[in-house]
Amino acid sequence: MSGHEQKYINEAFETNWIAPLGPNVDAFEKEIAEYVGANDAVAVNSGTAAIHLALSLLDVNKGDIVFCSSLTFVASANPIIYQRAEPVFIDSEPGTWNMSPQALERAFHEATNEGRLPKAVIVVNLYGQSAKMDEILSICNHYRVPIIEDAAESLGSTFKGRASGTFGKFGIFSFNGNKIITTSGGGMLISNDIEAIKKARFLATQARDPAPHYQHSNIGFNYRMSNILAGIGRAQLEVLDDRVEARRVVFERYYQELAHLSGLHLMPELENTRSNRWLTALIINEEEAGVSAEEILRALTLENIEARPVWKPLHMQPIFQGTRYYQHSNSENISEYLFKSGICLPSGSNLEVEYQSKVINCIKDVINNNSKERDVIHI
Ligand SMILES: *Cc1c(COP(=O)(O)O)cnc(C)c1O
Repeated sequence: MSGHEQKYINEAFETNWIAPLGPNVDAFEKEIAEYVGANDAVAVNSGTAAIHLALSLLDVNKGDIVFCSSLTFVASANPIIYQRAEPVFIDSEPGTWNMSPQALERAFHEATNEGRLPKAVIVVNLYGQSAKMDEILSICNHYRVPIIEDAAESLGSTFKGRASGTFGKFGIFSFNGNKIITTSGGGMLISNDIEAIKKARFLATQARDPAPHYQHSNIGFNYRMSNILAGIGRAQLEVLDDRVEARRVVFERYYQELAHLSGLHLMPELENTRSNRWLTALIINEEEAGVSAEEILRALTLENIEARPVWKPLHMQPIFQGTRYYQHSNSENISEYLFKSGICLPSGSNLEVEYQSKVINCIKDVINNNSKERDVIHI
C-alpha cells in the first residue's frame, strides 16, 4: 500500500457507502479512463470478470470461436469457456513473447477457408510488454474482428506513446493482489464505445431493467467493484507511475548484472514501446549457459528466493487438451520454448537492492559452479 488508501476508505465509511457502487467507484472509473485516455471505464470485481463482460458484449456464444494468446495466465481464456465458445490458441513471437502476427494470419486464413471467422481476438501483453499491436490490429481490421486487449499485466505501459489497453474494442485491467497496483481484488473494462460500457455496467449489476419492481430481460452478473476497494484503487493509481519507474529500475539492475552472461537473455522491449516491467523475465539457453532454467529455479528455491517459471502455455494445459493451436512457424514453437527455458525473477516495486543482489549472486553462482563441473568432466 502507498499510505493514502486509508483516506479513501475512511471517506467510504464516513459516508456509509459500503456497497458495490458509490463515489469511489465512479471516481476510480473516471481516473483510470483519464489515465489511459479511453472514453469510459467500468470497475468490476476482477480482471476475469472484465474479459467475461467483453465477450458477452461482443455476443460470443455457444459455437463461436475466439482466438487467444497461448502464453498467458489461464484467466485470459476461461471466460471463453464460460460463454461455451471455443478457444483457438495462437503462439508467441520472439520479439515481444506475445501473439505472433504470422501465426494469427495463418489462423485467420484457415478460418476463412472453413467459413468460420472468430468472434473476437484476445491479445495479451505479457509481463507488461505490449504485443506487436500494429501488425495485429491490421490483421484483425482486415478481417473485421474486434480485439479484446488483455492488459491485466501491462497497466502503465505504452506502445508508441499510447497507453496499453486502449488498442482494441475493449481493454481490461486487473487489480489482483499480484498486479502492479491492487485493490486486493478487482478489474476494469475500458472502451471508447460509451454505449458498450453503459451496457457492461448494466450486465455487471444483475441486468436489472429500469422498472420500479425487480424485472430482468437479460441474464446479468454480480460483477461490480466495492466502493471500499475502489478507494484503495484510487490511492494506488496515484503511485502507478512511481511503481513503473521502480520496476524498470529493478529490471535495469538485473540487465546490467545478468545480460552479459552467456545464454541468459532478458525479455526484450519492442522498439517504441515502454514496458511497466511488471515482472523481470529471462530465458536460459541451456546449451549456451551450461545450466537449465529448472536448475536455476531449484537453486533460487534453496536460497528461499521465490522465482517462477514463465506461464505454461494454455494449449499445453490439461483443461484445453485437443484445442487448436497455431505455431509461430512450422519449425518454431515459441511459447513452448519460452515455457521450457524462461523464469520470472522477484521484481516487486519495493525490492531492496540487498535482496536483489542475493538473487543475482545466486544465479551467478549456479552458472559458475556448473561450468566448472562441466570443465572437470571434459578433462
Ligand atoms: C491477472 C491476470 C488476469 C486476471 O485478472 P484477475 O483480476 O485475477 O481476474 C487475466 N489475464 C492476465 C494476463 C493476468 O495476468
